[in-house]
Amino acid sequence: MTANIVRLGAIQDVEAYTPPAVSFDPSEETGSIFGENVFSLTEMKKRLPKSVFRSVFATIQKGEKLDAAVADIVASAMKDWAMEKGVTHYAHVFYPLTGLTAEKHDSFMEPVGDGTAIWEFTGKTLVQGEPDASSFPNGGIRATFEARGYTGWDVQSPAYILENPNGNTLCIPTIFVSMTGEALDHKTPLLRSQAAMAAQADRVLQLFGHQDIDNVVSYCGPEQEYFLVDSHFFLTRPDLLNAGRTLFGAQPPKGQEFDDHYFGAIPERVLGFMHDTERALFKLGVPAKTRHNEVAPGQFEIAPVFERSNLASDHQQLLMSVFRQVAKQHGMECLFHEKPFAGVNGSGKHVNFSFGNNNQGNLLQPGDNPHDNAQFLVFCAAIIRAVHQHGGLLRLSVASAGNDHRLGANEAPPAIISIFLGDQLADVFDQIAKGGGATSSKQKGVLSVGVDTLPDLTKDAGDRNRTSPFAFTGNRFEFRAAGSNQTVAVPMVVINTIMAEALDYCATELEQAVAAGTDFNEAVQALLKTIIENHGAVIFNGNGYSEEWHAEAEARGLKNLRTTVDALPEYTTPESRELFSKYGVFNERELDSRFEIGIEQYVMTIGVEANLTAEIATTTILPAALRYQTELAQNIAALKAAGVEADTSDLEAVSAPLADLRAGLAQLKVAIAGQHQQEGIEEATYVRDVVFPAMAKVREAADALEAVVADDLWSLPTYQEMLYIL
Ligand code: ADP
Ligand code: MG
Repeated sequence: MTANIVRLGAIQDVEAYTPPAVSFDPSEETGSIFGENVFSLTEMKKRLPKSVFRSVFATIQKGEKLDAAVADIVASAMKDWAMEKGVTHYAHVFYPLTGLTAEKHDSFMEPVGDGTAIWEFTGKTLVQGEPDASSFPNGGIRATFEARGYTGWDVQSPAYILENPNGNTLCIPTIFVSMTGEALDHKTPLLRSQAAMAAQADRVLQLFGHQDIDNVVSYCGPEQEYFLVDSHFFLTRPDLLNAGRTLFGAQPPKGQEFDDHYFGAIPERVLGFMHDTERALFKLGVPAKTRHNEVAPGQFEIAPVFERSNLASDHQQLLMSVFRQVAKQHGMECLFHEKPFAGVNGSGKHVNFSFGNNNQGNLLQPGDNPHDNAQFLVFCAAIIRAVHQHGGLLRLSVASAGNDHRLGANEAPPAIISIFLGDQLADVFDQIAKGGGATSSKQKGVLSVGVDTLPDLTKDAGDRNRTSPFAFTGNRFEFRAAGSNQTVAVPMVVINTIMAEALDYCATELEQAVAAGTDFNEAVQALLKTIIENHGAVIFNGNGYSEEWHAEAEARGLKNLRTTVDALPEYTTPESRELFSKYGVFNERELDSRFEIGIEQYVMTIGVEANLTAEIATTTILPAALRYQTELAQNIAALKAAGVEADTSDLEAVSAPLADLRAGLAQLKVAIAGQHQQEGIEEATYVRDVVFPAMAKVREAADALEAVVADDLWSLPTYQEMLYIL
């Protein structure tokens, strides 16, 4: 069967398509299944002796060290619970620097030496595992012969059962470190950065007179955008299959210009998929909450309710696996690439975050009168300082080959990191900057809708700004530059760490002022004024997409790191080294390794894309164009032989882009051949400046051909098909 028949078949399939029976039962959806497969606090309370439970609870809620003596009892209770649910194996789940999730499975079975076996799970195996680390990227942290890696249970992220028709597994979220204790994963630095931020937040809260301060944590609510594509199309697009994005494809006659997809009615088939993903997520205790169509055709969004950032990060990874799996069950593929289709909206992952704890609540809650809420203003000012000083690191935290297609491309915020405060807060900080402190806050208004029967709608005190990478949205900040495919752990590590430094600065300033006899309130006013004077340049409430902003940002001294290659060196600047080592988040070697892995991943990603471009152009597009060219030539010859005047314009319309394609391919092959003559950042720069543009040339010619070659000869599914048939 040729690819072409598969392609046409897909359309027929879809027409005959009936969504898989979704036995949607709202009563099931509302509570009883939530957390069913999680070894939660409630489950532990039921099963553990009181003293053991209290000890685990202190670890989870207050961040206290887990008592080794209780681990055996917890493990045994966990095993009993899991085995009641048909589990035979457990897996330490970790998050290596590939950005994916890794798991190593072991059975509960232990032979006892007399030919029989028992089912056992000890505290030691719960708390620590030892997968071979040699096949995971480590960026030179260890030589291949030092292959040992260790996983360690993150007690704050509960164990859960992953269901599979072929056997259920007990999953234990863990960190992953080398024999020398260096981080080989994303969770370790996330936990370290949480602790660093908590220590400094505690100092600030103490200054405000709080006692009995609970461990401050960062919360994260990631909004995830994604595309769904029918599996038939996906399987006949080698580019989607291997690179996660289309490397070819002419613009469809109808794109997203009507804005008719955003928040539109959800297609029936997609709703079936959403119900099934939500059910699976609920069982795993992932609080999936909001779902809607996104801007592009075929694009959707899911947002769970925010959680502690290490848990949110684990849940986010889990969510992505569940989505991929359930999509397949529904005959679709879920695409998390940042830009699967050129010319239509790409996908991001908005990282909403805040800081807080059980007794002081959300520390980014301004209240009705933020000017009067000094504690809130200090936290807010700390963020302003942190983002101004470390915009480069924030940019770095969202850098990837995929995300380079979005940032700065008029659909996502620019690569320049600035802060949007909204009218109310901007006004408060304006008053502070002008001196004398802030005396008023713009108030929420009432919206007049002009319809008498409607109740009054309240109007927020500040508008939204979709063009800002870092926006205050009422009681949290939203970091909007993250890519859809990446883990939220990386941006959260940076956010926690730069906050630790800024809060450290605030606490130190205030402590010194108070020690010198300054009135506390005056000290706070002075601190806020200094911060806004020194770091106010990062505040920008205008249109981040505009050209003028690029010029103005440069004048303000803000970095504009356009591509991943520009951003990666931020890992190893003297300022970054000092920052991360001071707060114990990364040592020098860990930073070097992350820099190297970043380069490696960038070079590999574009390398694969370049090879695919050459292959598809040579074996699929060129032959289709040649056949069509031959057909036209034969047609002309036949007409001439029959004595009829022949029009050669169609032939010329194919021949010109065909020549371009050949030339482009030749150039691309030369570019690819030259790649390995450099290494490190030079290779990455070469790939960006030479290989990537050569791919674009081939694509341009191929897309021009798609517009003229007979459709029955064109075997690649088109944008129109992939985006609109669901
Ligand atoms: P939007 O209107 O920005 O698209 P959504 O409802 O799609 O908003 O998503 C908002 C996200 O922000 C959700 O994940 C939500 O739980 C999260 N969120 C809300 N409050 C906080 C908070 N205080 N801290 C962190 N995240 C929060
Ligand atoms: Mg949203």
